[in-house]
Amino acid sequence: MLTELSRLIDVQEIDKVIQEVTQGLARLPEELKAGEAALEELKAAQAARLQELEDLKARRRDTELEMADMEQGIKNSRQRLMEIKSNIEYKAMLKEIAFKEDQRDQRETRLLEFMDLMETQNRLIAEHIGQMEEQEAILVQQRQEVAAQVAKLQRELAELEEKRKKVRKVVPAPLLKRYEFIRQRRNSSAICPVHEGVCLGCHMNILPQQFIDLQKGLEILQCPHCQRILYWADEVVEAGATKRQSS
Ligand SMILES: [Zn+2]
Repeated sequence: MLTELSRLIDVQEIDKVIQEVTQGLARLPEELKAGEAALEELKAAQAARLQELEDLKARRRDTELEMADMEQGIKNSRQRLMEIKSNIEYKAMLKEIAFKEDQRDQRETRLLEFMDLMETQNRLIAEHIGQMEEQEAILVQQRQEVAAQVAKLQRELAELEEKRKKVRKVVPAPLLKRYEFIRQRRNSSAICPVHEGVCLGCHMNILPQQFIDLQKGLEILQCPHCQRILYWADEVVEAGATKRQSS
């Protein structure tokens, strides 16, 4: 095989790893999304609970005011009871007082219900604070892990870039240019092996004469269908075929 071809294979290998590392780096912040969404959900639920508690407080205040009014009404009626002379009127007033007391008692029962609900709500809110703190702690940890992972991948990337520079230096510039041109159009694969006359980039037959020339290894050839730069590497292909059969 031409030495520039085997070096170009090295370039492609490094480029592939660089691409993988770059994609990995881009994906890392995604790992925080689920945790962040969970925290947001907890915060929204907590806000709803606090709002419910505020509503209960307002209803309790209203009920307390109503009860105070009723208490006053009952007092007034009792006062008037003293001044009533007629038996019928007296009985009617007693009835009215009983009705008012019943109304007041109903408010009182409701008030107790509000208190119960508020207690439950306060307990839920307290529990929720614990859950939010837990989730926040998990997120802090996840952020640290992701940051460490990012730093590691960035170091790897810097090393790879250095290596890439070195490997590219030994490939002739026109060939590199051709490689880059094909790579952009062929999903990052610009140089590929040929096995039994078939281009493994596009899985189509190359011309028989091309295959003979390729085996001679004297010139750089491109696939007539996908334009990828070709090399004949039977040993590489054999290993690949065994792997495919066993899988
Ligand atoms: Zn091809």
